[in-house]
Amino acid sequence: MDNKIFRKPLFNPEGDIEVKNRCLLNFNTTNINDFNNMKYSWVSDWYRQAMNNFWIPEEINLNQDKSDYPNLLPAERAAYDKILSFLVYLDSLQSANLPNIAQFVTANEINLCLSIQTFQECIHSQSYSYMLDTICNPTERNEILYQWKTDEHLLRRNEFIGQLYNEFVENPNKESFLRVCIANYILEGIYFYSGFMFFYNLGRNGKMPGSVQEIRYINRDENTHLWLFKKILLELEDEEPQLFTEESKKMIADMVKTGVEQEIAWGQYVIGNEIPGLNGSMVSDYIKYLGNLRYSSLGLGTLYPGYETEPDTMKWVNQYSNANMVKTDFFEARSSAYAKSSAIEDDL
Ligand code: ZN
Ligand code: ZN
Repeated sequence: MDNKIFRKPLFNPEGDIEVKNRCLLNFNTTNINDFNNMKYSWVSDWYRQAMNNFWIPEEINLNQDKSDYPNLLPAERAAYDKILSFLVYLDSLQSANLPNIAQFVTANEINLCLSIQTFQECIHSQSYSYMLDTICNPTERNEILYQWKTDEHLLRRNEFIGQLYNEFVENPNKESFLRVCIANYILEGIYFYSGFMFFYNLGRNGKMPGSVQEIRYINRDENTHLWLFKKILLELEDEEPQLFTEESKKMIADMVKTGVEQEIAWGQYVIGNEIPGLNGSMVSDYIKYLGNLRYSSLGLGTLYPGYETEPDTMKWVNQYSNANMVKTDFFEARSSAYAKSSAIEDDL
């Protein structure tokens, strides 16, 4: 199997302009962004959704969070800090790594999506800075920001995904491309979720409402990122079927399983059994369900029999995480506000 991949050419007047020849890897691209001639038709919907999702962290009021934070239960506060530290790390790593992937992607419309995703990961990192800057003093803020370097559990779990990302940078080829895409898919679809669940649980207990809203916006963006990487993986399977051997499918299953196990261990460590409204088995049931959902979305079947449906104890999460369910009370109001301001810009 030819395992080589090549960086996309930049100024390339001799590039191929035939839409039907365009492909994810090793295409002789001109880099022209032509929105009228897309090979990957799902990109139009994706692009529109991502544009409509635009938001600004500072537009969310954190006044109540400022007074709630010092009064959180010790277990809640410890979890808040550790989860935020983990999320800052994930979003920062994403914004740094996505361009590494994009430089090998030769389908320009998919590169457009990766650029938008990178921009959104930057907004996510900035939203955490805004949250920390509002609710705590500069010393506490820095302690939280760098906990991922000193907390052993946090460092250990960052190693798994960090090493997969490093591997692709050091040795880019088709197989490591497949692995870095799966790593992205796991990060977007499993890693964020015990953290999101913790914030939503604070929300249903009437605490830290501003942080909860920030997370809802972030969650809505992460859903589109998950959608993007699912599509990239399915296109890759279509265009490079030789990569998807029984052996590599086993590797994917092992990677998703490792991701699920680490997320469960992490959830037990940060959430434990002392936070009102959550307990260890709720966390592990929910993460196994997510693992199944992500795995079966790639057409690979079931990873954890018995966890095919959303656990009854976790049905409330959907009220916060499902963008469609909150459209009228929250997201829709925002979208129309931004539409108005962009019209003003046009008149200048
Ligand atoms: Zn993000
Ligand atoms: Zn993301």
